[in-house]
Amino acid sequence: MIHFVDLNKQHSEIQEELNEAYFRVVKSNQFILGPEVEAFEKEFAQYLGAGYAVGVDSGTTSLKLALLSAGIDQGDEVIVPALTFIATALAVSEIGATPVFVDIDPDTYLIEPEKIKKAVTNRTKGIIPVHLYGQSAPMDEIKAIAEEHKLIVIEDACQAHGSIYKSRRVGTIGDAGCFSFYPGKNLGALGDGGIVVTNNGAYAERLKMLRNYGQRKKYHHDILGFNHRLDEIQAAFLRIKLKKLGKWNTARVEIASWYKEKLDNENLKLPVKKNYGTHIYHLFVIRHNQRDMLQNALKKEGVETGIHYPVPVHLLEAYKYLRYNKDSMPNAEAACKEILSLPMHPYLTKAEVNKVSDVVSKFLLKNKPIAIQLH
Ligand SMILES: *Cc1c(COP(=O)(O)O)cnc(C)c1O
Repeated sequence: MIHFVDLNKQHSEIQEELNEAYFRVVKSNQFILGPEVEAFEKEFAQYLGAGYAVGVDSGTTSLKLALLSAGIDQGDEVIVPALTFIATALAVSEIGATPVFVDIDPDTYLIEPEKIKKAVTNRTKGIIPVHLYGQSAPMDEIKAIAEEHKLIVIEDACQAHGSIYKSRRVGTIGDAGCFSFYPGKNLGALGDGGIVVTNNGAYAERLKMLRNYGQRKKYHHDILGFNHRLDEIQAAFLRIKLKKLGKWNTARVEIASWYKEKLDNENLKLPVKKNYGTHIYHLFVIRHNQRDMLQNALKKEGVETGIHYPVPVHLLEAYKYLRYNKDSMPNAEAACKEILSLPMHPYLTKAEVNKVSDVVSKFLLKNKPIAIQLH
């Protein structure tokens, strides 16, 4: 069996340290907004090169609170890519704003700046570029559009902890950057968690209030806030894992290079890496027009795979009320039918990559594809 992710291997490497952190927090008797969260925020901000970091209880929350701290409100429109995890859009709809979906670049699967331009209206207040699969969206183009129309840029970096765009870590390029610590992410807690980073002190101030019942001082509530704090125990675990993130990301890049070498085949589309930055392969996504058959062939040989994502967000049942038609985002819709995520985690061995690649290659020999649909 070749697992899609393997947290067991990751955790056994740092088991002692995790145990020590657990006892430390239990003994401290401080479980909410104490020294661990404070230290982790400082360490994470330092790692990214961000001015401020505010720990919250999930990636979805980080997006929601980032939008609110930037003053985005009910009735505003926020531009999001059609191919992403639904949480990018849920953060927008949860605050009563409207997600406006735009199509993707068929090569990189990232939001397409030309399509953003066409989606801007006089109600548009923000853009959420998603650094999908571990690679930065084209931030210069996006920031230029934002400047022209006075829009806020909130980066969804939930799949890109440590990824670089033109010598800066993603999350520090827009007005705020949002990260998830869901266990399977490149940096994951032992439960839910998230963080917002920003260089804007006023945003940071509001974020700290928003996550903690809207209070600046205990029982003095200036705004309507939430209970959306990062737990001390998760912060303690995350501090240990943050020290390994660089090593784990490097391992992912090497594993991706093994896959690319073994899977170099004109009948298969491999991940496209842009020259403007790094790709840290949260996911290794290939494309073939008989995707479901390929996925079954892998399953038969004990290889776990995933599809990220099978339905573009604008066509999900939950967003039916926005009335997007089929064929409105042809690149995203075509991709969703053909993309397949292969096993990817820092502890994958060369033998495992070879096994997965051999199953794929054998499939390709037997199943010549009809041309990949690119729009
Ligand atoms: C995981 C993820 C989120 C949501 O994070 P949670 O911690 O699960 O709430 C948002 N956006 C993207 C792109 C993600 O991959």
